[in-house]
Amino acid sequence: MTEKKPKSSGRISVRPTLKPRELMTDTPDLAGSWTAQLITLFPQAFPGVLGESLTGKALQDGLWQLQTYDLRAHGIGKHRNVDDTPAGGGAGMVLRADVLEKAITEARLAAKGAMPLVYLSPRGRRFDQAMARDWARHDGVTMLCGRFEGVDERVLAHFGIQEVSLGDFVLTGGEIAAQAMIDATVRLLPGVLGNAESAVEESFSTGLLEHPQYTKPAEWQRHAIPEVLLSGNHAKIAQWRKAQAEEITKARRPDLWQAYVEKDQ
Ligand code: SAH
Repeated sequence: MTEKKPKSSGRISVRPTLKPRELMTDTPDLAGSWTAQLITLFPQAFPGVLGESLTGKALQDGLWQLQTYDLRAHGIGKHRNVDDTPAGGGAGMVLRADVLEKAITEARLAAKGAMPLVYLSPRGRRFDQAMARDWARHDGVTMLCGRFEGVDERVLAHFGIQEVSLGDFVLTGGEIAAQAMIDATVRLLPGVLGNAESAVEESFSTGLLEHPQYTKPAEWQRHAIPEVLLSGNHAKIAQWRKAQAEEITKARRPDLWQAYVEKDQ
């Protein structure tokens, strides 16, 4: 996709406040803009790749904002310890409940509006497009990024934290998973994608995987672009794309295809 400027490129209004100096901090609190709160041992990992391209431009324009909460700042003692050995023995370290509590409380006190509280975890519900859409409709999301063997279980029940997984594999920390999920969510916010339609037609939004895409040159390595795409006949092109999307979904994702067929009945 060609990157275009969002239609409304105006900076979101800043909440009137008695402390105008807030504007001069690195992270002004932008009234009403969607907020990702990250509780992490590695705040410097953010915005990371989210600072690039469309999500980066949207961040700069104040269409969404990022707040990090450094777990280390709440660590215990001179060494600011955040973890300890697992009760009952075993390998690795576990993030302490009391340290997590302070960081989570700090984040929740700063949270505005309705923001789900989630822990990135391979044990969680698998993240998907429906979840991204749901989060995009909220005011933001508070994400707890684990490290080592994970977090003290008591914290999850105490705060009613929902566990969300990026997929059936194990990462060393929650930060990459958080960035992937934020990316998927932020691109659904109004004004973030240059071409509003591209979020409507793409994979998962219709229940189908996307049709193949082509661009110049018209002939490459003796492979031509399917003729119908060069015909200028928009109805025919739409028909071809739908048929392709159906065929690809049927072949690659029988689970999605089944759900699509049932939905249509
Ligand atoms: N011992 C844990 C894995 C810990 S991995 C277990 O077996 O379930 C360290 C951290 O990485 C986790 O606390 C979690 O925050 C993050 N993480 C690992 N895999 C993940 C995944 N698939 N999705 C989301 N977060 C993940």
